[in-house]
Amino acid sequence: MSKIFIVATPIGNLDDFSKRAIETLKEADFIFCEDTRVSRKLFEKFDIKTNYDSYNSHSTEKKKEKVFSFIKEEKNLAFISDAGTPTISDPGVKIISQIYENFSESEFEIIPIPGPAAFVSALSVSGFSSSEFIFYGFLPHKKGREKIFKEISQNEKTSVFYESPHRLLKALESLEKFCEKNRKIFVARELTKIYEEKKRGNIFEVKNYFLENPEKIRGEFCLVVEGV
Ligand code: SAM
Repeated sequence: MSKIFIVATPIGNLDDFSKRAIETLKEADFIFCEDTRVSRKLFEKFDIKTNYDSYNSHSTEKKKEKVFSFIKEEKNLAFISDAGTPTISDPGVKIISQIYENFSESEFEIIPIPGPAAFVSALSVSGFSSSEFIFYGFLPHKKGREKIFKEISQNEKTSVFYESPHRLLKALESLEKFCEKNRKIFVARELTKIYEEKKRGNIFEVKNYFLENPEKIRGEFCLVVEGV
């Protein structure tokens, strides 16, 4: 039986790389990475010598066949993305579903090696209800974007989404347009990294903070919006 490990990697701080994740990558027969240039640095740092190749949304049918032939040979495989948990706004879902659809249960087992995920980290320190929440991943850039902001403005549950720095202010403006004045928001920036920062307040306050401190509109962002 082939074991297929879906391994979470750090979202910044390398000390968050779990012992189990490192050992799994060292012991796997082969690793598929979202981007080999990104993962190579991690492998060098943690002395992971396993052979690897890329696997992402641009991968061809030939690459899928490579995965399938490893499974037929009962190899143990690991999948990682550039950072955080694979499949969470990252590649991985398609190949996992193809494995389920093309092999019988006796031929493979898919095993999660849990670890960091930016949205869970942001939610965990937001102070907003997280027993029920809606995760949107990245919002669409154009078509459907307004509709989602309207939906977020009416959500009773906490909403969480990823946003790039150059759309951060636009996202805050849209939230301001659709939400009531006192709606609270939490912006997590560069979690676990040197410039980690958390800003919590009503949308107007948070937007003004970033307008007044444009040098802070850099890095990686996750936004959490309190429910109605
Ligand atoms: N798979 C990853 C995970 O488990 O969170 C997410 C991958 S997605 C391509 C990358 C986005 O996640 C970034 O653009 C940013 O919005 C968010 N993100 C990743 N690392 C982050 C961090 N350290 N702090 C805040 N947001 C982060």
